[in-house]
Parts: sequence; C-alpha cells; structure tokens
Amino acid sequence: MIEELISLLDSVSLSDSDDKWIWDLDSDDTFSVKGVRSFLDRRELPEGAIPTRWNKFVPRKVNIMIWRLLLDRLSTRYNLSRKGFDIPSILCPICLNSVEVLDHIFGGCHLASKIWNAIGRWLEVSLPSDKGPKSILEWLDSSGLVKKKKDVIEVIIYTAWWTIWRARNEIIFGQPNDNKDTPFDSIVSISYLWLSSRNCKFYLNWVAWLKNPLLNM
Ligand SMILES: [Zn+2]
Repeated sequence: MIEELISLLDSVSLSDSDDKWIWDLDSDDTFSVKGVRSFLDRRELPEGAIPTRWNKFVPRKVNIMIWRLLLDRLSTRYNLSRKGFDIPSILCPICLNSVEVLDHIFGGCHLASKIWNAIGRWLEVSLPSDKGPKSILEWLDSSGLVKKKKDVIEVIIYTAWWTIWRARNEIIFGQPNDNKDTPFDSIVSISYLWLSSRNCKFYLNWVAWLKNPLLNM
C-alpha cells in the first residue's frame, strides 16, 4: 500500500507558486458566466436552437421575455392551441390576417414591418428582408459592425420585440394605454433610457441619439 502511494507521488512535482482554482471549461482557465452559459446550452438545447443571449443593458424582465421568445415559448395563439388550449381564434390579434406565429407577429405583421422600416431608416442600415427574430439576430451577428454598435442595435432590437409584444397584449387584454407615442417613438425613448441608465460608458446625448445612435461611434 505504502509503495503504491509513493509511486503515485513520484510523478508529482511541486512548484513554489500559490495554489489556485482552475476552470477547465474555458480555454483560458478563467471562470466566466458566459462559459457556463455556453456549456449549459451545448448540453441542454436542442440542435439548431438559438444560443441563450443575455444583454446587460436591458432589464431582467426583458431578457427573460427574449429568452422565451427565442425558444418559441411565448404564449402566441398558435402555441396555445398547439398545447390544447381552447381559444376562439389563432389569428394574429393585430391584423387578423395570419396565424399568430413568432415570425409573423415580430416580423411579417404590418405593425412589425412598419417598426422595422422605421428602425432601418433611423439607423441607416439595411435589415434583412425576412424580419423574423432568428433572421434579425443572424443579420446582426454577421453584420461585421464593431461591438459597441452591435450592443446598441441589440438593445434596440430587444426593445422593439418588447414593444411589439406589449402592443399585442394591450389589444388582447384591452389594457388602457394613455401613451400617445407611436410604438416606434416608444422604442427610441425606452432603448435610450435603458442604455443610458445601465451602461456607464454610454455618452450619447438625446439629440445625437434621435439623429442616429450609430453615427458617432
Ligand atoms: Zn398580424
């Protein structure tokens, strides 16, 4: 027994450096929340699913809504009917013209189209012709823009999805809305509020933001 222990120790060489913890999921041995998240995504998400995204410049409730959106777990009328809920209609409550699926409500519906056109003009970018959530994110990820600009656009995209979903819920649940702003006006002001209050490096003033947030970056 003792020989076995000695032979085990034979190959061990000790150095003078301090003891330290090593995180071997990431190549640089350093722990990161991002590393854990991609590890869990690789293990848990079905193939082809969009990896979990977390944007620190928007409130947690928005990140949770986006997380559910990207997994197609929002309670769209189509998803509810698929789960066996007896609902009066599966048509989009905004236009009453198409089945309410994710790509329609956030991309193809006239409200969403109007919003994306306005955002494209505001940021002076050409968004993809398919405005479904997956395409919009693929476009952003492969846009070749610098990270600072991508972060800002991601906040604006998330705010747009958040605003569209709220507008849709207001129609379904008849919530009173005293806000006289158009959905696009709300997106411009809410995304500015979230970014300027959560990003200490954010320096754009309101007038520059209104003109085009990407211009002076
Ligand atoms: Zn619609």
